[in-house]
Formats: sequence, structure tokens, C-alpha cells
Amino acid sequence: MKILVVEDEAMLREGLVDLLEGAGHEVISTADGLLAEQAATAEPFDLILLDLCLPGLSGIEVCRRVKKVRPAQPILMLTAKGSEDDKVSGLEAGADDYVTKPFGPRELLARIGSIYRRLEASPVSAEDLSADGCLLHLGRCEIERDGEAQALTAREVGILRWLHRHRNRAVSRAELLENVWGSRGDLQTRTVDMTIAKLRQKIERDAAKPRIVITVTGVGYAWGDC
Ligand code: CA
Repeated sequence: MKILVVEDEAMLREGLVDLLEGAGHEVISTADGLLAEQAATAEPFDLILLDLCLPGLSGIEVCRRVKKVRPAQPILMLTAKGSEDDKVSGLEAGADDYVTKPFGPRELLARIGSIYRRLEASPVSAEDLSADGCLLHLGRCEIERDGEAQALTAREVGILRWLHRHRNRAVSRAELLENVWGSRGDLQTRTVDMTIAKLRQKIERDAAKPRIVITVTGVGYAWGDC
């Protein structure tokens, strides 16, 4: 894979580059948030490893800007131990997963492997769905309502895919966290609610009265029968 490493601690950055090159990846590295944004918007990477506290531009902002241009760009955040808020804001900014510092080489390579497998497992061919007057182009991370197109994040596409695949039943927040976020149980369910609130703003005719992603009281969410 071609990987962009964004980390301002020189020792850690060099260690990451050595580790990833040693595992056969092509690696480009930078210590600066703005340079990272430039590199990542100029060309796609198979993966970006992104530190959160950076000179130039914060990791969260880099993540947000890159995901705006490339919604499907996989990003793995490097977060400090115990900073639950960092994890939540990073995931809300569109990051696909995170590892907590300090991490061992095996943990990092395992996490990279799991992101890679998830990408391989999600079909790249276009999947076009239509729901309540909204066209959902899942393959290209885009929706269209009333002739207006809007980009979806990879996470939003993941939620839509999961709910549609299991459209005959309600899906719990924990199930979404596990299957769409690939989380290990340390994320909070409010992350799901906030992501779905944003998704509804994009796809629903009226986000206050959702018909595509509906709430099932006491359970979670379901694909609306529309
Ligand atoms: Ca840092």
C-alpha cells in the first residue's frame, strides 16, 4: 500500500516509516498539518496515518478537509492515551479508526490490516438505491435529492449499506458501532446518533421526520419502509 504518515514527533515518525517500509509499503511522511493536507488532496493514498496534535493544521482539521475532497480516503488516527474526546471528534471528522499511543508495531500493523480487509470487503461497484425521493449512489459516496448532489462520508455509506442489508429488522447502536466503525467497545453510542443526525440532514426530505433512516425506540435504527 501507499501510505502517508503525518506525525511531528521525529522519533515516532521515523519509527513508523521504518516499520511500514519494512512491511513492504511505500511511505511518504510529513510533520506538518498543512503539508499533509496538500499531499492528501493532491493524490489519493491507500491509507493516511494521522497524528492529532500537529503544527500548521490540527489532525482533526486535516481529516475534515481531506474527507471533503476524498470521502473514501481511509484515515487512521493516532490519539493520545485516555483522550476520549479526541477519538470522538476524530471519528466525527471522518476518520476510519484510531490507535492509542503508545502502541506496539504489531497492534498498528493489525489495525492497518483490518482497515484494509474492510475496504476489500466493501464492493467498489456502484450500488444505486432510491428511497423517499432520494437517490443514494453508495458506490461513489454521493446522494442526489431534487437534482442536487451531495457527498457522503465512507462512514455514512457504511451505515446505509448495513441498514439496507438488514432492512427487515431494527439494528442496535452497538451493532452499528461494531460493524460500521469496527470498534472495540470503547466508543460511545452517542457517536452513532451524531453521525446519523448528520446523515439525515443530507438524505431526508425533513430531518425532523425521517423516512429513510428511522428511529426504533428502545432498539436503535432501521431502514424506513418508504
Ligand atoms: Ca503531535
